[in-house]
Amino acid sequence: MIRPAWVEINLDALKHNFNAIREFAGSTVKIIATIKQSAYGHGVIPIARQLSLMGVNYFGVGSVEEAIFLRDAGFSEPILVLSSVSSEFADKFVDYSITPTVVNLHFAKSLNSIAKERNKRCPVHVHIDTGMGRLGYYYKDAAVLVKELAELDNLYLEGIYTHFPSADVDSNFTIEQINKFNSFTSHMESLGITFLYKHSANSMGVLNYPQACINMIRPGLILYGISPVDSIPIEVAPVMALKSRVIFIKKVDKGMSVGYGRTYIAKRSVYIATVEIGYADGYPWSLSGKGIVSIKGRNYPVVGRVCMDHIMVELENGNDVKEGDEVLLFGRSGDDFIPVEKIARLANTIPYEIVSRLSLKLPRVYLPNKLAYQQ
Ligand SMILES: *Cc1c(COP(=O)(O)O)cnc(C)c1O
Repeated sequence: MIRPAWVEINLDALKHNFNAIREFAGSTVKIIATIKQSAYGHGVIPIARQLSLMGVNYFGVGSVEEAIFLRDAGFSEPILVLSSVSSEFADKFVDYSITPTVVNLHFAKSLNSIAKERNKRCPVHVHIDTGMGRLGYYYKDAAVLVKELAELDNLYLEGIYTHFPSADVDSNFTIEQINKFNSFTSHMESLGITFLYKHSANSMGVLNYPQACINMIRPGLILYGISPVDSIPIEVAPVMALKSRVIFIKKVDKGMSVGYGRTYIAKRSVYIATVEIGYADGYPWSLSGKGIVSIKGRNYPVVGRVCMDHIMVELENGNDVKEGDEVLLFGRSGDDFIPVEKIARLANTIPYEIVSRLSLKLPRVYLPNKLAYQQ
């Protein structure tokens, strides 16, 4: 690693968070660990390996490619693809033992006929919409689909699920969703159509709606130690820290400008440190003139615009920081801490976007053993 910019991933923090979630939800509730998009940028293989060691029940991924990547790496846990996939790729689910989300009959029939050819029975999770408006039949119209699915001999209705769009802010709406979901599944059960797993809770659902954690949950964000809201009922530890180093320091006289567009003009004579991180790494351009970094336990402001590979920060004076010093962009490092939630707020986005868009070119260093792993 010659270019000094890297991401530290603390697997002990992940362990802590997984245990905290399991304890909070209760030991009878199965956990689908949501590890889509390279485990929210944390690097999917080491994260999946740690979760596997801890006895995770299921992995939730975003695409067939991600699921095959895990299978090729040797993971044998069940894997649910949390999206709808074209029927032309139905064979992948059967051949790699991947569980699809089913939202239409066309896909289900293709899958059924391939499973029949291979003499297999394929588990599926049917996704119904109770208010997200993204995937799945609206719950009022879904009975027809589910009844038809139940007739397909080489499929097994292992699960049914729905998704909350606003569990963080709108409890009336979320409670209505829970009621709609429960009455739909009860109606199906009254017709003899049963499901081993029923799930609806993302992180916020797990934290705020114990009644939604029927027998399975799908946490993502809190696994990584990030809070969806200011205060949550469990203590989680941030897993990711973004770090770099000061590569240059210079004195800038009053009236001189720093960076593209000359948006920063020194009001007095100051020292400016250039740090090796930029928007091509996923450090948001919107932090121009707004970000903060920590060097040796002290916060400094990002001044001027974020460049493709660099940012500039204003120092207090010429001798508090030196070239080569480590810079914390966000996350925890010893006692030093810049919450990614705060960086997201300053960048006018959400922490999900910050972590999942960090370039996979940045090396991930896994603590406690400092093993490096590049995606
Ligand atoms: C991403 C995702 C989750 C996890 O959401 P968090 O808010 O990160 O906990 C759960 N379910 C589905 C369907 C998802 O797409």
